[in-house]
Amino acid sequence: MSKQPSPTPASNALSSSIPSYLQADNLGPWGIYLQQVDRVLPYLGNLARWAETLRRPKRALIVDVPIQLDNGTVAHFEGYRVQHNTSRGPGKGGVRFHQDVTLSEVMALSAWMSIKNAAVNVPYGGAKGGIRVDPSLLSRGELERMTRRYTSEIGIIIGPTKDIPAPDVNTNEQIMAWMMDTYSMNEGATATGVVTGKPIDLGGSLGRRDATGRGVYTVGVEAARHIGLDIATSRLAVQGFGNVGGVAARLFAQAGARVVAVQDHGGTIYREAGLDVPSLLAHVAQAGTVAGFLQAEVLANDLFWDVDCDILIPAALEQQITHENAGRIKARMVIEGANGPTTPQADDILQERKILVLPDVIANAGGVTVSYFEWVQDFSSFFWSEDEINARLVRIMKEAFAGVWEVAQDNKVTLRTATFIVACKRILHARELRGLYP
Ligand code: GLU
Repeated sequence: MSKQPSPTPASNALSSSIPSYLQADNLGPWGIYLQQVDRVLPYLGNLARWAETLRRPKRALIVDVPIQLDNGTVAHFEGYRVQHNTSRGPGKGGVRFHQDVTLSEVMALSAWMSIKNAAVNVPYGGAKGGIRVDPSLLSRGELERMTRRYTSEIGIIIGPTKDIPAPDVNTNEQIMAWMMDTYSMNEGATATGVVTGKPIDLGGSLGRRDATGRGVYTVGVEAARHIGLDIATSRLAVQGFGNVGGVAARLFAQAGARVVAVQDHGGTIYREAGLDVPSLLAHVAQAGTVAGFLQAEVLANDLFWDVDCDILIPAALEQQITHENAGRIKARMVIEGANGPTTPQADDILQERKILVLPDVIANAGGVTVSYFEWVQDFSSFFWSEDEINARLVRIMKEAFAGVWEVAQDNKVTLRTATFIVACKRILHARELRGLYP
């Protein structure tokens, strides 16, 4: 018999019993996004007259997702798909399964996708989806039924030329395969381009799994050069050791960096001499968490923020760096692998303390960049080599970062505001060119 989904969020290192979107700094993700937009308005010139577009999602769908549990009873979950903007192309963005998912969170995540896609100049708008569920409490069969019913419910607004979902927190290649199959069955034709992040044998792209972490690493190396930080002698602290944090840690370690601390939902581990990243990855693949890794000390979760390091990579959930811990961070540079990990108050504190923040909307854009490659490959039914994909990814990330760096220098603003300037100009220019319908 399967366990019933719990009505309350699980308590762990990354989410206490109060949902993260109600915790300190209190704006909630959508409020944070609106504040980020306000900060950019003075830099938009004439395009600012279209700015209201940025403050309103184009379309938001709430769906009921009823499924039969293994014990025969029926459970209902709430799901969402929000298309924030489609001025530059179809909606694009991941789907997350998490017990704290809300409409306001998905709205913010969809808006950050609009900014991110415009920042790296891939021809997409922004969208995001999610289901409020703790997927660890579902059996594989229940997870599949929930994914399929959700896909069917949002099927009225997604499609290869309309809105293309992808993996995000707690979703993976298998879930994308079920989504692709469900959409295709309903359409009566196999539509590989409806989702990205699929298994390789189903129209997925080489390099997609590592793409977000590789992008984090690429912009990290570029930024380090600007501030005279030597990666080969640097120390890293990483929060979240999944697809983003784990891959980024591996690449930094290969470049000589010492990964001294890692925190995930199971706990925090520390090793001053540097953790053995390949062994840790193998441990996490088996245990599902960094907790229990023997070649490390256990650290109290809260002490993670005090760790002596040069680079801090939050690669888990939103609102982790707040006014309460931003003053304690020792790093010279924060690379946002997660979406929305730093609150605006914390952003200000880090800026005052001259800690460089590489914002999510550029730092973690590698994932969607290779999603774009995957979508192009699906459309053309012609697949590229991994080297080709990585080379194109690195080129896009470097160019985008260089552009943002220059805008930040020219306007004396943070990299976050600079990324918003670049992206909002692109979105609003497209908006202006298209004009108002009817
Ligand atoms: N979920 C990822 C993100 O937040 C990837 C989205 C995509 O590939 O569409 O950027």
